[in-house]
Amino acid sequence: MATVSKHSPGLWHISLPFQGEPEVIGTYVLAGKDEIALIDPGPETTIEALLASLQEAEFNPQTITHILLTHIHLDHAGGVGTLLHHMPNAKVYVYSKGAPHLKDPTKLITSASRVYKERMQELWGNVEAVPAANIQTIDGGDILNVAGRRLEVHYTPGHASHHVVFYDVHAGELFAGDAAGVHLPGIDYVRPPTPPPDVDIEAWSATIDLLKKLRPDVLYLAHFGPVRNTIPYLERFRAQLFAWGDIVLEALQAGKNEEEIIQILIDKTEPELKRKGADAEAFKRYDLATNYPMTAQGYIRYWQKKHPERLS
Ligand SMILES: [Zn+2]
Repeated sequence: MATVSKHSPGLWHISLPFQGEPEVIGTYVLAGKDEIALIDPGPETTIEALLASLQEAEFNPQTITHILLTHIHLDHAGGVGTLLHHMPNAKVYVYSKGAPHLKDPTKLITSASRVYKERMQELWGNVEAVPAANIQTIDGGDILNVAGRRLEVHYTPGHASHHVVFYDVHAGELFAGDAAGVHLPGIDYVRPPTPPPDVDIEAWSATIDLLKKLRPDVLYLAHFGPVRNTIPYLERFRAQLFAWGDIVLEALQAGKNEEEIIQILIDKTEPELKRKGADAEAFKRYDLATNYPMTAQGYIRYWQKKHPERLS
C-alpha cells in the first residue's frame, strides 16, 4: 500500500511500494496555490501507486505543473515518459547533461541492464522517451520559483555526473536525491549508493562539503525520507563512502575479483546492520535501494577509471 504523509506546509511525501516493500522509493509533492510539483516520481512500475496516492491526497494529476528530477536513474525518473500521459500539463526539469537521456533512453537502459540483467522489466518496467517539448533543462545556480517556493538548484556530482539537489532556503528543506546517501527509517545506518558508471568519490566529497555549507535543517532523501541533524549525518555519510572505497581498493590490490569483492562488502556490512537492529525485511529494503553488486561495480569502475596507478 502506498502511503502519503505531510511533512510541512505544502510538502507531502508518498511512499511507493517497490517490489512490495514500503519506504524504499518515494516521491515528494510540493503544493502551492496554482502549482504542484513532484520531485523524483519514480519508475514505471510504481506509477499506479503514485496516481492512487495523489488521488488520496486530493491532487488531480491533470493539475501537476512541474516534475523536478534530481537525476535520471530509473528508480527516480524511469517512469516520467509514461507518467506524462496522465500529467499532460507537467514540464520536466532536469540537469542539462541528463536531458538527452530522457529524450532517448537507449544508453540509460543499456547501462542499467548491465547491473540488473534479467530483472530489468520486473524492477523498472517500460522506460518511455520524454518528448523534447516537455523538457526544461536546468543548471547549478538556477533559481526555480515553484509552488510558492524559491528553490535553489545546486549541481551535486558524485553519485551521478548529472545530479542536482533542490534547496528551499526559507524552509531549510533540501531535496537531496541520492547525493546524501541511503538511510532507511528505523535503522540508524547510512549506506553509499554507488552505481556504475560515473561514481566519483572526490566529486562526491566536494558535494558533501557544499551540502554542509548550505546548513539545511532537514535533508529529504530519496531513499528514504527526512534526516535532521544534517551536519553530523553528512560527516558520517562521507566516512562510510570513503571506508567502502578503501575496502574495495584493498581487495582490488589483493587481486580479488568482482564476486569476491561483493562478498567482502557483505561480510563487513551485515554484522553492523544487524547490531543496529536490522532484520531480514530491512536487509531486503536496503538491497532494493542500493544492492551490493551495484555498489561493488561502481567502486571498481571508479578505481580503474580514476586511479589506475593505485592498482598496479
Ligand atoms: Zn541514483
